[in-house]
Amino acid sequence: TRWVYAFGGGSADGDASMKNLLGGKGANLAEMSSLGLPVPPGFTITTEACVHYYANERSYPAELKDQVAAGLKKVEEITGKRFGDPSNPLLVSVRSGARASMPGMMDTVLNLGLNDQTVEGLAKLSGDRRFAFDSYRRFIQMYSNVVLDLDHHMFEEILDDHKDRLDIHVDTGLSAEDWEAVVADYKRAVEDERGEPFPQDPNEQLWGAVGAVFASWMNDRAKFYRRMHDIPESWGTAVNIQSMVFGNMGDKSATGVAFTRNPSTGDNRLYGEFLINAQGEDVVAGIRTPQPLTKVAREEMGDVNPSMEEAMPEVFAQFKGVVEKLEKHYRDMQDIEFTVEQGQLYMLQTRNGKRTAKAALKVAVDLASEGLIDKAEAVMRVEPASLDQLLHPTIDPASPRDVVATGLPASPGAATGKVVFTAEEAEKLGNAGEAVILVREETSPEDIRGMDAARGIVTARGGMTSHAAVVARGMGRPCVSGAGEIHIDNRAQEFHARGQTIRAYDIITIDGSTGEVLKGAVKMVEPELSGDFANLMAWADEVRRLKVRANAETALDAQTARQFGAEGIGLCRTEHMFFDPARIAAVREMILADDVAGRKAALGKILPMQRQDFVELFKIMEGLPVTIRLLDPPLHEFLPHTEEDVQAVAEATGLDAAKLLRRAQELHEVNPMLGHRGCRLGVSYPEIYEMQVRAIIEAACEIVASGRPAPIPEIMHPLVAKGEEMRFLRTLTDRTAKEVIAEKGVTIEYMVGTMVELPRAAIRAGDLAEHAEFFSFGTNDLTQTTFGISRDDSGRFLNAYIEKGIFEKDPFVSLDQDGVGDLIKIAAERGRAARPNVKLGICGEHGGDPASIQFCESVGLDYVSCSPYRVPIARLAAAQAAI
Ligand code: PEP
Ligand code: MG
Repeated sequence: TRWVYAFGGGSADGDASMKNLLGGKGANLAEMSSLGLPVPPGFTITTEACVHYYANERSYPAELKDQVAAGLKKVEEITGKRFGDPSNPLLVSVRSGARASMPGMMDTVLNLGLNDQTVEGLAKLSGDRRFAFDSYRRFIQMYSNVVLDLDHHMFEEILDDHKDRLDIHVDTGLSAEDWEAVVADYKRAVEDERGEPFPQDPNEQLWGAVGAVFASWMNDRAKFYRRMHDIPESWGTAVNIQSMVFGNMGDKSATGVAFTRNPSTGDNRLYGEFLINAQGEDVVAGIRTPQPLTKVAREEMGDVNPSMEEAMPEVFAQFKGVVEKLEKHYRDMQDIEFTVEQGQLYMLQTRNGKRTAKAALKVAVDLASEGLIDKAEAVMRVEPASLDQLLHPTIDPASPRDVVATGLPASPGAATGKVVFTAEEAEKLGNAGEAVILVREETSPEDIRGMDAARGIVTARGGMTSHAAVVARGMGRPCVSGAGEIHIDNRAQEFHARGQTIRAYDIITIDGSTGEVLKGAVKMVEPELSGDFANLMAWADEVRRLKVRANAETALDAQTARQFGAEGIGLCRTEHMFFDPARIAAVREMILADDVAGRKAALGKILPMQRQDFVELFKIMEGLPVTIRLLDPPLHEFLPHTEEDVQAVAEATGLDAAKLLRRAQELHEVNPMLGHRGCRLGVSYPEIYEMQVRAIIEAACEIVASGRPAPIPEIMHPLVAKGEEMRFLRTLTDRTAKEVIAEKGVTIEYMVGTMVELPRAAIRAGDLAEHAEFFSFGTNDLTQTTFGISRDDSGRFLNAYIEKGIFEKDPFVSLDQDGVGDLIKIAAERGRAARPNVKLGICGEHGGDPASIQFCESVGLDYVSCSPYRVPIARLAAAQAAI
């Protein structure tokens, strides 16, 4: 087996594609060598050798010794130096390098190969005795710490003693002789601790360091990091042994790091820092302030010390060429480490650079415009969920955060405002132009106007699909839900969290992207839907197959949805329209009516208002499909519940208080979500659905008659479980629609379909499809009913499931593809078998989740529908799913 891969001198055994075997660092060093870039020669011991080491009681494969010796020999040939040669010594670095970058988690040894003889050789060769002994003492300290497991404080104390004795305060003040004395003390201390001298044999040093790097794969830091980033323990790390180059050999030497573009803005300008006469650790340690690389950057920073461009113009010109070549070669923004040794440039590392969402977008679009990647690849380069960061105002990352509580990141974006505890107050102050944050135990449909008037919403209870979360996302309002740390005292008009008291009208800021509630106002940055954003979205639209619609019921939502590129409405929840104060009285009258005639009379008052709702939506959607769902929630949600509220409503409406209370009690259900709701209302009170169908068709006729683009209403029945239910609803719908069409004398098209949000509906989808022309998967309820877990209360215990690894993700956020997903597959299959052209979509919250969208593509749904602010995310995710 081959355990060692060489690189350097213009060629390499490996290449960039071999990350699994050579680790990220090793693979890219090999690639850079083959490209003819100045890489100090070296070799990589494979990750497989590490795996072997752990599988065989920490022992090396038999062939490894010889292969390493051969690797060293090659390095000696290229450099003209020899490992352990007192007159011309080769020194090496020994570094870890796993498949995935694990910055700083594992061990490194530099300057390896130094001993009492070779240090003299280094002094002579470099002409700098001080440098040689400084390097030797660094090596003894690092090696003793990493390989011999000696505490570094011991060395620091010795150095401090010397400085005290010499009355010198900075390391640079020490002379060659001073360092020699330090080295002698270091060696003595090591011998005292271990009972044997510091190893002088370079080969023993080398194998000690290799063993230490392998062992560091299993140190606590590395294990923790792997768990955090899902990196399998079985991968192992590679070891890179590379000839040393020195950035600390005087003023013609330097070390630095660079990004080929700005990683926070994406600007196509070389970005980075360097330090003259320094080694890599000095840049990180922050003892001296590094200088910018370019003259422009230096001028912008108003810095007095010269940039690399000015301090070493020739090397900089060469470096610039190398950097450009690397970016062209890897076709992505690179994160680079380099060293200059006495005017000679060396590349030590390159990798794809980490970046912000904004930079990711700009870099992807720019690279495509520059012709380095094609549009499809640009589309793949941006994480859909990260677009969220770009669509809402966000908290300035540089500003401090005073967190008083955390909950779920229910609706992204940030908002600052005065705390209020009731929807009425939010409405009053909000509509008067004040910025308020509504803080509630939980919200209900009655709070909708207060929520709309607030800048943001916090709830102490409820999960990611609780009322507050769903509505807030729909409105694009930031929301933190289920912040269990918050205890609201409504009487005192204050809340308590983490031992602090926040009173009504105190200023707080919420971050709906992290779930944090912060004290006071925090600086914000506004979203910028710049040209790059529009470009990438256009490219995504070219490749995606899935259509993207929005869940919207108000004109504002519908307009926002279209601005973000929605291709129709996938779910208009009509109950929201019933809560409008202008009609809630008529709705209550209808609920209180003793007979059909009474109900019809009340419905007659609602009809024109409902018709106007649909006219508005159809106008905005200009002929795009609009799916309208008939009334879904149980009727008692529209009634007041406490005696106080009943009294108030009775006074305001003239309705009979006793009757109101009695009716509310009659309608009370123990388990309302499995109760008298959805199409069950349409079965019990057909006149309600008849009114709604009539309003829809009349609105469509009105639009057609006015000469506007003909709407295609899709009339949707919620919570259907049985084919017979669907037959009844279909008959009701068609009969009513035909009546209206005959009355108006206008021809219009419409469709009748159902939501699939119950397991039985999915399993018997064939029966449903006989009468339904389309299915829309209501995955909020389908998840709730499949798991038997309440979507409104699950926030309280799901965390335990996620922490214990029973659930990987909250199934109300990302579709449970095995369980709920199987039901969707079955329904799609059986639905298509019964009606080949049945239209399939999804309108649960999962319709805006990238992983769930990928699943929808795999099942071949026709569209996804999500809240307006997630439409761009869905467009990008749908494009990625199709590529
Ligand atoms: C659903 O159940 O997934 C759905 C979209 O309907 P709602 O959230 O209104 O119950
Ligand atoms: Mg539902």
